[in-house]
Amino acid sequence: METTDKKTIKGGEFLITETNYQDVFIPEEFDEEQQMIAQTCRDFLSAEVYPNLDRIDTQEEGLMPSLMDKAGELGLLGVSIPEEYGGFGKNFNTSMLVADVIGAGHSFAVALSAHTGIGTLPILYYGNAEQKEKYIPKLGTGEWKAAYCLTEPNSGSDANSGKTKAKLADDGQHYLITGQKMWITNGGFADIFIVFAKIDDDANLTAFIVERGFGGITMNPEEHKMGIKGSSTRQVFFNDCPVPVKNMLSDRQNGFKIAVNILNIGRIKLAAAAIGASKSVIDTAINYANERLQFDRPISKYGAIRYKLAEMAAKVYAVESANYRAGQNIDDAYDALVAAGMDASKAKLKSTEQFAVECAILKVWGSEVLDYVVDEGVQIYGGMGFSAEAPMDRAYRDARINRIFEGTNEINRLLTVDMMLKRAMKGELDLMTPATAVAAELMSIPDFGEEDDALFAAEKKIIKNLKKATLMVAGAAVQKLMMSLSKEQEILMNIADMASYVYVAESAMLRTEKLVQLRGEAACEGQLNLMRIYFVEAVDALQKAGKEALWAFAEGDEQRMMMVGLRRFTKMEAFNVKAVRQQVAQQLIAANKYCY
Ligand SMILES: Cc1cc2nc3c(=O)[nH]c(=O)nc-3n(C[C@H](O)[C@H](O)[C@H](O)COP(=O)(O)OP(=O)(O)OC[C@H]3O[C@@H](n4cnc5c(N)ncnc54)[C@H](O)[C@@H]3O)c2cc1C
Repeated sequence: METTDKKTIKGGEFLITETNYQDVFIPEEFDEEQQMIAQTCRDFLSAEVYPNLDRIDTQEEGLMPSLMDKAGELGLLGVSIPEEYGGFGKNFNTSMLVADVIGAGHSFAVALSAHTGIGTLPILYYGNAEQKEKYIPKLGTGEWKAAYCLTEPNSGSDANSGKTKAKLADDGQHYLITGQKMWITNGGFADIFIVFAKIDDDANLTAFIVERGFGGITMNPEEHKMGIKGSSTRQVFFNDCPVPVKNMLSDRQNGFKIAVNILNIGRIKLAAAAIGASKSVIDTAINYANERLQFDRPISKYGAIRYKLAEMAAKVYAVESANYRAGQNIDDAYDALVAAGMDASKAKLKSTEQFAVECAILKVWGSEVLDYVVDEGVQIYGGMGFSAEAPMDRAYRDARINRIFEGTNEINRLLTVDMMLKRAMKGELDLMTPATAVAAELMSIPDFGEEDDALFAAEKKIIKNLKKATLMVAGAAVQKLMMSLSKEQEILMNIADMASYVYVAESAMLRTEKLVQLRGEAACEGQLNLMRIYFVEAVDALQKAGKEALWAFAEGDEQRMMMVGLRRFTKMEAFNVKAVRQQVAQQLIAANKYCY
């Protein structure tokens, strides 16, 4: 565990400050107890989930709830529940580790994460003492299973526009909830529903804890889906469902805030699950590539296949680095808030809210890395990749939902920039000073100073420059477009991609630097290579996004000057990335699994 005094960092600040490797957590630092928890998860998947994937996907009656019960017996549903409610009270990064490992569990992973996340956390973080005492212990063991009812047929991304109504019954003791909810994960077997509805003509949603036994609840049959077929997904109808007044969660009209804050946690955990799923797919792909012979040689001998393996690994390594870095930032922020006297539940929410930008970035990056990995996984399997009898079929179909739920990737990209700009306007994040400094630097003669060939010197310079490029484009877009920027979605997406590449590439670098400090350079050759491969993508992609934005909103001399700046800030010394990929592939092939 980290022992140095950490510099506290605020959400979104990565773009304007330099982070030291000492200040980040890396997954290699998980302690023995955390490793044991991870091993318990792996053992559970091997014993209970992998042998039953087909049965799970046919939604065999009672199977998924019984798996949840078994996971509950092992304590896997109570990892982040405080001990006073019968859980283990582990920190955020430990719960991320569980999400990561269980993420390889296909539909089971979705059921577990909906239950422990969006199903349980609203009560844990917003419930009063009585509500927590009644519900949390049973949710922690799995005796009661939970679902989250926000989406409606006409209210998806625009979640606050829901039509479900709650009105006070004549007895004054109950709200009667009426409305239709759609796409409800765990709907078929949940005992508890977190339901969002508007009381009378309120502008904003209110959240309620609804028990299945309250009555007035009916459901459509299971949805037929492209993937995660074993996950129960239902439309849920509330017909004058009587909910005791005391089951309102938090305050009237606070529901949208609850929904948004719980989704922050869901987003970063989704990224963790996507990383776990990706690693498992890479394992499967390497196995196959080593076994499958064509032209008398294993296909893993071919450069085209090696390229894929190395790219898959580099992307996973980078996003994993960012995920646990952000997880630790959340843990640190929580500790600081609690030390300052804040109530634990409030501190949990506040700490995640502080890093909402990073959560949005990670949701997008985790899900898109997973989609890249499963797509190449299918390709490595060739015709067998297209066979429903082979494992890539399920992996490919199951991955796709991750870009849609917990806020679509479009919405999360928009949010990434929107949240940063709002923080800048509130004076919480000083984007304008560094952006102005970059604009001034553009007018100056470039610094052709001595090349520093110390380890990481080149990468640090690249990261510094990528930040400058992002600040230059974002700053100019704000100045030029002002209020209309919020309507320029393509430009916002470009800026989101630039900021995300900065964050993920920097995280890969910091992790590698810390590892080198811990283990020595020779032991980290593989990780150094993964970092270098990712930098090639990050620099190129960031330049492309910047160029498209500049072409869209700048003209003439201004555009020319910024294009010169963009090229200057996205310069990278040539190196033989093909040879580096070969080395990574060689390691993967020799280990016959993802080995970083
Ligand atoms: C399998 C599954 C499980 C789910 N589980 C749950 C659950 O347990 N509980 C729950 O409440 N919900 C759940 N959902 C719902 C999910 O969160 C929504 O599907 C998602 O938020 C998108 O909403 P939508 O489907 O209405 O798409 P829409 O909002 O109609 O979006 C359609 C497209 O338009 C884009 N779009 C929408 N608005 C904008 C905008 N302002 N700017 C730019 N682009 C935009 C979107 O990005 C998307 O590409 C689940 C969905 C699925 C498929």
